[in-house]
Amino acid sequence: MKIRFLGTGTSTGTPEIGCNCPVCTSVNKKDKRFRSSVLINVKCKYILIDCGPDFYAQMLETFKVETIKQLDGVLITHEHYDHVGGIDDLRCFTKKKQVVNIYTGNNVSLKLIKRLPYIFADYDYYPGIPNLKINSIQKDKPFYISGVKIIPINLLHGKKLILGYRIDKFAYLTDLKTIPDTEFKKLTGLSVLVINALREKYHDTHANIKEALKYIDIIKPERAFITHVCHDFGLHENVQKTLPKNILIAYDGLEIFF
Ligand SMILES: [Zn+2]
Ligand SMILES: [Zn+2]
Repeated sequence: MKIRFLGTGTSTGTPEIGCNCPVCTSVNKKDKRFRSSVLINVKCKYILIDCGPDFYAQMLETFKVETIKQLDGVLITHEHYDHVGGIDDLRCFTKKKQVVNIYTGNNVSLKLIKRLPYIFADYDYYPGIPNLKINSIQKDKPFYISGVKIIPINLLHGKKLILGYRIDKFAYLTDLKTIPDTEFKKLTGLSVLVINALREKYHDTHANIKEALKYIDIIKPERAFITHVCHDFGLHENVQKTLPKNILIAYDGLEIFF
């Protein structure tokens, strides 16, 4: 399995527009963060998790190193703009009449249909639109994309229920504040866990570094990667030195194989 981190930033991205803090002005590439998303290559299938507003730029970067002919599925964690703002740009994968299938919870499906009526509503088909199909999944039921098993993980983003996803020994959990007790049994035996940590300071709806470390300690993956980071997190280089060896801060363009 190969994972490419397309983006590792929080909703504002880093640098934040107009900010002159040391992180936003850092020249280290690892401190520049598009909105969070990963591209997974498993059994020769490509699966995207989240499709934020930077998807266009992320694909331009990705195609510099690899040409992707087909996207087998898109998993959406929740409907906040930083996770779905690039859905229209999925059209780059539907040019030859292919369909791109999007999978998410029923509540999120309804919100996406409402937000992008020209793509999903049933009225007259307009020839230029991306050929996308939304598939509503059940939050407790594993499902398959081209033979690849996907296990939804229920997470709480503040009080809001959102989804993480497990594929084989990989799990991607972003935007969580809390992992309900019922979900830990779905997260045993992981090689790679991706989990969000916004910054050191407390936040109402996102886990901070301390909370993410607590969850990593319970889940005990071989390696953990931190994502959905904001500019208050600190400089990549400085914070990395404070973390245990198997906990790495992800950065845009990072590829991992396992
Ligand atoms: Zn987010
Ligand atoms: Zn800043």
